[in-house]
Amino acid sequence: MEKIKIHTMRCKGCYYCVESCPKHALAVSAHKNDKGYNYVEVKDELCVACGTCFEVCPDFVYEVLE
Ligand code: SF4
Ligand code: SF4
Repeated sequence: MEKIKIHTMRCKGCYYCVESCPKHALAVSAHKNDKGYNYVEVKDELCVACGTCFEVCPDFVYEVLE
C-alpha cells in the first residue's frame, strides 16, 4: 500500500532523503523529471511512514499519507 506520495516534478536531485531513510526504502529513478533531475522512487514494501524524508526534503516533494 502507498504510504507516502512523491511529487516527483518538485525534486531537484539532492538525495538528502535517500541518505536519510532509515529503511533504505528510497532509490534514485532512472527517469528524469521536467527539470532534468533523476527523481526519487519509494519501495512501498519497505517504507514505514516515519516521515523522515518529508522532514529532510527542502523542496516539499513528500506527503505522508498515514
Ligand atoms: S530530498 Fe527532496 S529534492 Fe532532494 S532528492 Fe529527495 S525528494 Fe528530491
Ligand atoms: S517515510 Fe520513512 S521509511 Fe518511508 S521512505 Fe520516507 S524516510 Fe523512508
